Amino acid sequence: TIGMLAIDSKGDISGACTTSGLAYKMHGRVGDSPIIGAGLFVDNEIGGACATGLGELVMRTCGSFLVVELMRQGRTPQQACEEAALRIVNKQEFKDIQVGFLAVNKKGEHGAFSIQPGFNFTLSQDKETKVTDAKSYLK
Ligand code: ASP
Repeated sequence: TIGMLAIDSKGDISGACTTSGLAYKMHGRVGDSPIIGAGLFVDNEIGGACATGLGELVMRTCGSFLVVELMRQGRTPQQACEEAALRIVNKQEFKDIQVGFLAVNKKGEHGAFSIQPGFNFTLSQDKETKVTDAKSYLK
């Protein structure tokens, strides 16, 4: 998945999400990426979130919507991504699965968290671009 979140100088937030889907997927499978609230959700009053990884688990938890709702309740983007990922961890045998979330809020703060290590994201801010490893549940 390539998920993108952007906030402009006026504080308006937008997002986009694209994917080739999972490897060896069943013919006709629709993943989380094209489903608003699952692979991507933006509420311009609060923030935006996007997801990568096993889409079935993201869909079952309305993952990106959940991240934005947690921010609405006062969590930072980082806290919201962690709480949404842990909700999946607590429901599943997660040994081999990956789900990761990215989020940005109205203040321009960002967060990222994944179950497995190896989830990288690129942050472009103040004319600087850097690639960062997201924090993960498993090390
Ligand atoms: N989330 C995508 C899907 O389940 C897979 C990916 O991360 O690209 O279709």
